[in-house]
This record gives sequence, C-alpha cells and structure tokens, in this order.
Amino acid sequence: MTPAITRFAPSPTGRLHLGHAASAWFAAERGRLLLRIEDIDSSRCRPEWTEGILEDLAWLGLTWPEPVRRQSEHLEDYRSALRRLDVLGVLYPCFCTRKEIEDEVRRAGVAPHGMEGPVYPGTCRRLDPAEREDRLAAGHEASWRLDAAEALRVTGPLTWWDGRQGRVAVRMDCLGDVVVSRKDIGTSYHLAVTVDDALQGVTLVTRGEDLFDSTHVHRLLQALLGFPEPAYHHHRLLLDENGKRFAKRDKSCTLQSLREAGVTPQEVRERVRLAE
Ligand code: GLU
Repeated sequence: MTPAITRFAPSPTGRLHLGHAASAWFAAERGRLLLRIEDIDSSRCRPEWTEGILEDLAWLGLTWPEPVRRQSEHLEDYRSALRRLDVLGVLYPCFCTRKEIEDEVRRAGVAPHGMEGPVYPGTCRRLDPAEREDRLAAGHEASWRLDAAEALRVTGPLTWWDGRQGRVAVRMDCLGDVVVSRKDIGTSYHLAVTVDDALQGVTLVTRGEDLFDSTHVHRLLQALLGFPEPAYHHHRLLLDENGKRFAKRDKSCTLQSLREAGVTPQEVRERVRLAE
C-alpha cells in the first residue's frame, strides 16, 4: 500500500507549543509529512514566527521531503479557485461589518453558534440583486460568502471519512454561509486549506478535533472545485495538567522555552504522545 501523504499546517501567529508538537508527530507517524505555513493573515502572522516554526520542528527531528509551502506565496491559486466557485453561482458578496452581524443575530433571537462565532444570518444573501450591483459598482468593500444551501444543492449529498468517527455526512448548519474571501486578504482559511490540500496531494488530513466542523466546509468546497477527497483524522487535543488546552500566549509551554530549559526532544516526545 502506498503511504498516505500527511501535512502539518501551523499558522505563524506565535511560537509552537506542546500541542503543536503532538499534532506534528501525529501527522509524521501516519504518512509522508509535508509542511505548510498558513500565513495568509498578514495582520497576525510574522516572519520571525515562521523561522521559529522551522527551528522548533528541526529540533524535534522532524523532516519533510518537499519544499515548505507558504500560503502567502500562492494567493493566485486561491483567487483562481474563487473565480471557479463564482462561475458555479454559489457565492455572494457580503457588505456586513462584524458589528452589524452581531446586532442582526441579537435581533433574530437565538442563533446557532459555530466554531467561528454566530452563524451568519444571511442578510446579504437576501439583498436585492440591483442593490448588490450598485454597492459593488460604488466600490463598497465586500467579503464573499459561500451560499451553503445552494452549494449543497449543486453537489448533492456528500460525506467524508474520519478515522475516529467513520463516515460523516456533510451538514452546513454548524458553520453556515462561511466567508471564502475576506475583505482584507481575498481568501480565507477554508478556501486556502482546501486548495492547498488538493494541490499538495494530501491524502490524509490530520488535525485537532477543534477543527472538526470546518471539514464539512472543506469537503463541500472540494466537491464544487472537483478536487479529490482525502481521508481525515481529527485527533484529541493535548491538555495540560489542569485539563486546559495549550495556548501560544502561554510562554512556559513553548518548544523554545522548553529547549532553553534543557528539556530534550525525546522528553517532549514522551510527554505529548496522543491517544488517537
Ligand atoms: N493553520 C491551522 C492552525 O494553525 C491548522 C489548519 C489545518 O490543519 O487545517 O490552527
């Protein structure tokens, strides 16, 4: 059997911590590891943190056989995917500010809450087409959202395979009409990840269970864009001794500070071994 192609895809928004080490090893043990730096959000990412990631992974002894893919160097790939989605008629421009969305959600009463905050109430999906054109023509800034119901109508029912949960049916009620192109960067996490996993030939996506819901979106985008379907494994998150998730802002558990305190990569390995 050919080995799976897996990837570790950190965002350089801080130094890596023990949870990242666990996730990177999880991917490395399950296939041929690729490394991707998810640095599309220039307001949060910094080049020195990318350097830190490379330094920490090298210290852990991890290697990857192909050049690192840095998302910031591939914005054209995401733009071209966006154009293909637009041709399918599954996108609409959204002019709402975060504040307007919050107010609308509050007005509408209880709204479902997804991993990215409240599910978008669909305000701009219902905008009159002439009004939409006027606003675009007047140069109003817009993000672009996926019309989830229309997209699922185009693809028909979809499923994906998760190593812990088995076959999972795609449902879009948890995340709703997600943004596929942000006003500021012209793409989004969901779109960039889906395009990259396909272009890098990833066959097994391993990542923390906190990203489980986003896989519904990624599977839908794959089907719309005609990309192959990888398998998934959403692993449990590594918790500290108080049962809390590690956070980048907590300096004491960064790999850098552990290294400086004399901890060895083998000791880190023992500490972060994840159950499935
Ligand atoms: N870049 C994401 C993160 O650092 C991970 C994305 C993914 O694995 O799909 O949380």
